[in-house]
Amino acid sequence: MAETLIKVDLKQSPYENDKVHNRWHPDVPMACWVKPGDDFVLETYDWTGGYIKNDDSADDVRDVDLTTVHFLSGPVGVKGAEPGDLLVVDLLDIGAKPDSQWGFNGFFSKQNGGGFLTDHFPLAQKSIWDFHGMFTDSRHVPGVRYAGLIHPGLIGCLPDPKLLETWNRREIDFIATDPDRVPGLANPPFAATAHMGALQGEARAKAAAEGARTVPPREHGGNCDIKDLSRGAKIYFPVYVDGAGLSVGDLHFSQGDGEITFCGAIEMAGWVHMKVDLIKGGMAKYGIKNPIFKPSPITPKYDDYLIFEGISVDEAGKQHYLDVHIAYRQACLNAIEYLKKFGYSGAQAYSILGTAPVQGHISGVVDIPNACATLWLPTDIFDFDIKPNANGPTKFLDGSVQMPISPDK
Ligand code: ZN
Repeated sequence: MAETLIKVDLKQSPYENDKVHNRWHPDVPMACWVKPGDDFVLETYDWTGGYIKNDDSADDVRDVDLTTVHFLSGPVGVKGAEPGDLLVVDLLDIGAKPDSQWGFNGFFSKQNGGGFLTDHFPLAQKSIWDFHGMFTDSRHVPGVRYAGLIHPGLIGCLPDPKLLETWNRREIDFIATDPDRVPGLANPPFAATAHMGALQGEARAKAAAEGARTVPPREHGGNCDIKDLSRGAKIYFPVYVDGAGLSVGDLHFSQGDGEITFCGAIEMAGWVHMKVDLIKGGMAKYGIKNPIFKPSPITPKYDDYLIFEGISVDEAGKQHYLDVHIAYRQACLNAIEYLKKFGYSGAQAYSILGTAPVQGHISGVVDIPNACATLWLPTDIFDFDIKPNANGPTKFLDGSVQMPISPDK
């Protein structure tokens, strides 16, 4: 096995590990250096730095301080990398930490983060998923088991000062359009909980006040939450600073397209074995603004689906113009209503859509006024037959198993 350049101790606070950071800023010092062609291993915390526990209460999901996330391992400096290059990253393998063979999924309270269906599920809930080699199942969501499509939710290179300023300006301007919204429109810099890696002194204070939050995906990649960016994928990242500064974290054992549950996929602590290379001047040569990638040659094979359609007419019956966000929400709500007929609670069904290898497609965006989105639910992940038939659905679950829920304080 290649050398482990960054280690994390799950019993230690991530704030005590100076090879970890939770903001994007060009001044975060490189945690280590490698050469083009090198392969190496980075260990990572789960995205909350160990705050969410393997237990049967959702209080931690309700109470988590979301200004602390995401804890990333890095940045890794790559010798010879310069602005305008492409950093080529092969995800050679990814796994869970040997002492942490489980992950979590949850929904944030609408008062603390919310999520895609927060108006339908406004309270904090959680499910724990155990790993059995390449498979996972949950004591809180019976009747499903599936193979993991392991991937980093978050990976990207450091921004330069100009790009950082662009991010902060456009997001702060956006928040100003509706500053009292719950949940908020975006997350501005927040120095109090910033972790700037090994940066110290005055430079640290300045960078902590400016550091971009890690929540949204941006031009550099970052928190894209793409399930297909999995082990075996090859990614081409824009480089903005000398050394590139590659950081990774927020590992997922599995996730449905959209990461609709927001807290989050099946979140885990783990390790990434990767190899880096450079394409000099690659951004201009290939006209690249955002990362591109090739998927893994190996993915879980689920080729039978029940596919739910949704259109851009919201729950109140209001017409929206080609809005794929609303169309996908309707497809998800339709799938949840369907799964409830087999005995799942709405929360359990929502958790399945957020964690299983569910596909989401933008199926049509031209047929005015309705966009059409589809949610592809793999039928073979269930212990029972979920397909429609003339006799109607059989209730396979008796409701005796439920997901922990925590009322707002
Ligand atoms: Zn995540």
